[in-house]
Amino acid sequence: MSTLTPTEGGSDLSANGSVAAWTERYTGAVMDTFGPPQRVLVRGEGAHVWDADGKRYLDLLAGIAVNALGHAHPTLTAAISAQLGTLGHVSNFFGTPAQIALAETLLRIAEAPEGSRVFLTNSGTEAVEAAFKMTRRVASSSGVGTRTRVLALEGGFHGRSMGALALTAKAAYREPFEPLPGGVEHLPFGDLTALEAAFSPQAIAERGEVAALVVEPVQGEAGVRPLPPGYLVAARRLTTTHGALLVLDEVQTGMGRCGTWFAYQQPEIGGGMVPDVVMVAKGLGGGFPVGAVIAYGAAARLLGRGQHGSTFGGNPVAATAALATIGVIERDALLTNVREIGAQLRQKIETNGSPLVKEVRGRGLLLAIVLNEPVAPRVAAAALEAGFIVNAVAPDAIRLAPPLILTADQAAEAARFFATLSEDFA
Ligand SMILES: *Cc1c(COP(=O)(O)O)cnc(C)c1O
Repeated sequence: MSTLTPTEGGSDLSANGSVAAWTERYTGAVMDTFGPPQRVLVRGEGAHVWDADGKRYLDLLAGIAVNALGHAHPTLTAAISAQLGTLGHVSNFFGTPAQIALAETLLRIAEAPEGSRVFLTNSGTEAVEAAFKMTRRVASSSGVGTRTRVLALEGGFHGRSMGALALTAKAAYREPFEPLPGGVEHLPFGDLTALEAAFSPQAIAERGEVAALVVEPVQGEAGVRPLPPGYLVAARRLTTTHGALLVLDEVQTGMGRCGTWFAYQQPEIGGGMVPDVVMVAKGLGGGFPVGAVIAYGAAARLLGRGQHGSTFGGNPVAATAALATIGVIERDALLTNVREIGAQLRQKIETNGSPLVKEVRGRGLLLAIVLNEPVAPRVAAAALEAGFIVNAVAPDAIRLAPPLILTADQAAEAARFFATLSEDFA
């Protein structure tokens, strides 16, 4: 064991700086893409975090649906430390047991058919990027050339790289960076008639065959909006008929967040259908950066040898983090916890009598409290003051995406806060 103190990169990392002092240093050194941080956090344990002033918060956002096991989970911490102390990185010239076991585990929980394969990435965006490249390899029905039309939905969020941005509908994110990769068409959210029209003989004659439809089963960044019942089943039927891929972006909804490993596995959402490609990230590594593309059956052959790559993707430390996270979710029956605590949280907030709360929507522990007024940013700020981390995901919606380990008491505590919301916010 080394006796060296951890390096601070020549910088002052002393834990006694205040939130104000750290915030000033932040704005002097970190690019302003995010604006100043709401707080500077120094420590976490379970579902709680502490800021640099020593104030404690119940973390109902979990780093945006990431910290599945909460903070500083002992099993995850030990697994990552042990792997880093054994073999930290090798590149994709080599394989590692952790990488191989993670790919096998993802295929198992995805109930993927024979021939399915996994590509490991470092983020959700990279998983989306790989999937986008797969769509460009879909052959035309004549067998001559490939297809370039890709359908995505208004309100959808898929990441900020040029490819992922091309799939993302939001004009404010896209417009400063055009031209983006072409061929993407954004259809109205949940509109089956529009989806059918995109596959109509006229649309195909004018714009060509469809390579893929890319959708989130529950739109996360758009305010936790589940697709209407039956949409994915119809989407599966249309894509199959036309030889197009059904690509599910489960970066936010996957890895147990909605109460099943993948949201589409819930009969009410997926109706038993099987997609061609699923992307995951966020919760996958329990806080360690890691993502994956799961390609079902024949889709696994769309990217051939040499057609994609990554230096860090499949890194054994990241793969170990994901294996440990999945292992704890299974060992501690956290999928059941997500369904039970999610239902309690939802029921308690819906019936707590706040005149400001209209409804709660979402699945499992990916929920939005829909307000009667567009005051979500002020409600989120008040929650923070009161010691609860939430997110104003839309002007009228508060997103809750707590750790999957949230207890009934913690859910009740959160619900009590939302009961105090009065019309004063309006
Ligand atoms: C967060 C998110 C992404 C992007 O993932 P990053 O890890 O931030 O790159 C893509 N798709 C969806 C649905 C997301 O919620």
